[in-house]
Amino acid sequence: MSNFTRREFTRLSALTLAARLAPVLRAQDATPPSSANPDRKIGYAVIGLGQIAAHFLPGALLTTNSRITALVSGHPEKAARIAAQYDVPSTSIYNYENFDNIAHNPAVDAVYVALPNSMHAEYTIRAAKAGKHVMCEKPMATSVADSEAMIAACKAANVKLMIAYRCHYEPTNLRAIQIIRDGSLGKVQAIESSFGFNISPQQWRLSKKLAGGGPLYDVGIYSLNACRYLTGEEPEHISAYASTIDRDGRFSEVEENVSWTMRFPSGIVASCATTYGANMPGYYRVYGSKGWLQVDQAFVYEGLRLRAEWPGTTIDELNPAKDPSHFMAETAHFSRDIQTNQEPRANGQEGLHDMNYIAQIYKSAGIKS
Ligand code: NAD
Repeated sequence: MSNFTRREFTRLSALTLAARLAPVLRAQDATPPSSANPDRKIGYAVIGLGQIAAHFLPGALLTTNSRITALVSGHPEKAARIAAQYDVPSTSIYNYENFDNIAHNPAVDAVYVALPNSMHAEYTIRAAKAGKHVMCEKPMATSVADSEAMIAACKAANVKLMIAYRCHYEPTNLRAIQIIRDGSLGKVQAIESSFGFNISPQQWRLSKKLAGGGPLYDVGIYSLNACRYLTGEEPEHISAYASTIDRDGRFSEVEENVSWTMRFPSGIVASCATTYGANMPGYYRVYGSKGWLQVDQAFVYEGLRLRAEWPGTTIDELNPAKDPSHFMAETAHFSRDIQTNQEPRANGQEGLHDMNYIAQIYKSAGIKS
């Protein structure tokens, strides 16, 4: 996994600051797409204008190689308001019924799927059939079978599929990986990680049908994925427990807590937990034979803090980058992958791995998938 240079890091921070200060979003590059111009900006259709799309939109705008060219929403007024902000013509606003017409819109190269989890597969497959590249939010889907169908559809259509694992493109997480790969901590022995929050009632995240499951699908997946990118290994043994403590109506369909342990081929052991019943800031701590490292706020949009110690070295670094720098970085990378015909680092296979491990965790915990 490549690392960010300090220059790129500084540029990210500066651009994010500039975005915060700018009172009005600047008009986007409206250069029409042309195959004779491979450096033109990649045009994105954003599907689902909810909470995460509100981070993606300004993040994409901060890149030098991406632009917003279409919106897909069930709420025409909201779509019109956002279209005006991002210079998207009204002819490029779609709803869920006429979405497939996007195939005829040459300004759209790729889609960003920002819908509830169970809708990821359908819209990824429809986008692939329309000939568009896909950046799909995590979790990739709500089943292994759907994930495999998404990969197959993108392959058949010869379009790229990236799962929006922000942390794969985020400097503090990349630095943690680099420290481990450099051997500074000696042999890694154990990892602890958790991420959770106290969920408010009545939202799709608590619907088994729409979410696939509880906090593991939503936020526990960050710890699972982190253990894989920190070790660079795939877990060979997994065991898990789940529980629901609060009987207040929120958890009639999905579980409240999951904890799981994993053993990796080198012998590294990992211990993780996730919850929808308590605020549990995302973090990981890695113990090696010569030292340790810890990243606090490891999975949120800003305020990531890396601490580490090994003989002769003490590190305590607060990443100054502000939201939406993570969204800018992942979008810039995906657009570059499209422009240069490279396979995304966080590709469909990467998402499928996590879906397989989630299925194993559920099985071990006795939860029906
Ligand atoms: P949200 O509820 O804020 O937005 C979901 C959007 O989907 C809304 O615009 C809603 O109108 C639309 N929608 C269409 N059909 C719907 C239906 N049947 N039920 C509910 N909504 C429907 O959700 P969100 O927090 O933006 O999450 C969207 C996706 O992004 C999820 O897969 C989630 O896991 C992921 N996510 C990723 C991150 C990240 O940091 N990468 C953070 C939050 C969410």
